[in-house]
Amino acid sequence: MTIAQRSEITATLDPDNLAGSDAKICQAARVSTLGSAAAESGEASGLINYLMRDRHGSPFEHGQLSFLVEAPIFVAREFMRHRAGWSYNETSGRYRELVPVFYIPDRKRPLVQEGKPGAYTFVDGTHEQYGITRWEHEQAYRTAWSSYQRMLKAGVAKEIARDVLPVGLFTSFYATCNPRSLMHFLSLRTRVPSATFPSFPQQEIEKVAQDMEEAFAEHFPLTYIAYTNNGRVCP
Ligand SMILES: Cc1cc2nc3c(=O)[nH]c(=O)nc-3n(C[C@H](O)[C@H](O)[C@H](O)COP(=O)(O)OP(=O)(O)OC[C@H]3O[C@@H](n4cnc5c(N)ncnc54)[C@H](O)[C@@H]3O)c2cc1C
Repeated sequence: MTIAQRSEITATLDPDNLAGSDAKICQAARVSTLGSAAAESGEASGLINYLMRDRHGSPFEHGQLSFLVEAPIFVAREFMRHRAGWSYNETSGRYRELVPVFYIPDRKRPLVQEGKPGAYTFVDGTHEQYGITRWEHEQAYRTAWSSYQRMLKAGVAKEIARDVLPVGLFTSFYATCNPRSLMHFLSLRTRVPSATFPSFPQQEIEKVAQDMEEAFAEHFPLTYIAYTNNGRVCP
């Protein structure tokens, strides 16, 4: 029985579902003092920096970024804890037969946890630890997938048969947000020691966040610079 092993976790920006710009954020802020004339105004790094620094956050809600995320279920669970300013749609295990693509950490993924909750560090595993990790993942995945298939063949509904599948199974979902909700996500799901409030996310969700950060920096460059210059604090 064939199962696919995957270590790559991705968030891909949907360019057809992208809206807004630094200029639109400035216009949203300027309507306060200019009224409808704000629509004629352009972007200004000074204004964006002021909004970020003084945490006038609502202008940063005028924009949209949509990502197709391909990640194990455990990453999706962490991701969907982010409620404010996010919309989600995910592959259904009720309506379709799931695809046997399973997460296996690659050799670069540090395996051993040291320290205490909130301040863990991770270091490389030994050759033996990498070996057992791969072997046990593969065994568990094969066993679970065989059970799933046997139940489907016996006529059991997909929504019941899926119960046996592990959180290492890949899922796909769309996650759509605005620049403000994305900054909040990035502040929690990236590890940047120089941030005003450093966070300690799991490496797998951080990979998703890094892909999203790259897209954010490209499409909202002044906002992104202000965000990083102000300690990566979400306004
Ligand atoms: C490193 C790390 C470890 C974590 N560990 C755990 C864990 O062990 N167990 C666990 O359960 N979760 C854990 N989480 C998840 C965490 O508790 C949050 O659920 C997640 O980070 C989403 O944050 P949020 O609620 O601020 O985001 P969002 O849901 O997007 O909310 C954004 C902001 O909106 C406001 N807001 C949203 N909803 C409400 C509300 N109902 N009432 C008032 N204000 C609201 C808050 O200001 C909030 O910060 C962890 C997260 C991180 C980053």
